[in-house]
Amino acid sequence: LRHEPVPSIRLTSPALARPLSKSSGHKFDHGHALILAGAAGRGGAARLAARAALRCGAGLVTLACPRDAIAENAASLPDAVMLRPLDEPDDLRKLLADKRINAICAGPGLGVERAATLLPVLAEDARDPKPVTWVGNQKFTFDLPFRAGRPTVLDADALTAGAAQGQAFLQGLHVNTILTPHEGEFARVFPDLGARLKQKHPTLSTLDAVREAADRAKAVILLKGPTTVISANAPRLRGKPPVEAWINPAAGPDAVPWLATAGSGDVLAGIITGILARGLPPLDAAATGAWLHAAAARRFGPGLIADDLPEELPGVFRDLG
Ligand code: AMP
Ligand code: MG
Repeated sequence: LRHEPVPSIRLTSPALARPLSKSSGHKFDHGHALILAGAAGRGGAARLAARAALRCGAGLVTLACPRDAIAENAASLPDAVMLRPLDEPDDLRKLLADKRINAICAGPGLGVERAATLLPVLAEDARDPKPVTWVGNQKFTFDLPFRAGRPTVLDADALTAGAAQGQAFLQGLHVNTILTPHEGEFARVFPDLGARLKQKHPTLSTLDAVREAADRAKAVILLKGPTTVISANAPRLRGKPPVEAWINPAAGPDAVPWLATAGSGDVLAGIITGILARGLPPLDAAATGAWLHAAAARRFGPGLIADDLPEELPGVFRDLG
């Protein structure tokens, strides 16, 4: 692959999500998402992520959670979600042996300690740096030296655990990883960039901070806030000029301040995982997910709680025609 490094920055728009509103085919054509989430007493995060992935049209969703949380999670999830135990790193290795799993989400309500033991297993899964073939109707081949692996969203406890592992964490990431930090998590993973953003007179724009983070991580970075900024340094294919960054404004005329509610980020992680399972490339999936998330909040209006977001998604897709 040869591509001109033409940086371009775009605003998210409904056009991103419109192709997803058309659905057809067998459940396996819509991918299989694996969600690693929901320790005992923290099943809400897992439920939100799993429901969001299903509502985005993932064909199958498996929730892997600690054994002692399975009953709790099963009680609050649709029957369509399969539950699997996740206590040891080997439990994850067994799950990942199923190559039909084509999108992974790790972190919401998982517990920082358990997340820390699972991150190296996810990194192992990404060792093979061969050209990547996407499930779905798109086939992509990446140039080396980018390490590639199954599309993986790391959120919440996975980010906090990763931050504690420092450089080893960043080196274990691959080109199809999406980190979805809020401001605090971003500062944990990239302390120097976080500190510069927090200055009274910041010496770095949010956009440049996210671009720099994407460059260091060799992954997609989605920094959440009233305005969400997404960037990647990965090459893009199919003759398209590379989109380097996306901005999803949920501030100004598009404000949806009620989206800042407990569990909202868990839904976003699930949305992105669901559309990754349907075959969108990671940077597109992150941008599309951010747009869908805000669109669901806008459609519901004030009074929203995070549980409303996944249920609003079918309406968002219907409105897209
Ligand atoms: P989390 O902190 O992980 O629960 O994620 C919070 C979610 O709410 C992210 O998707 C943010 O982009 C979003 N968010 C935070 N503050 C605002 C705001 N003022 N307006 C709209 N969205 C927001
Ligand atoms: Mg969160």
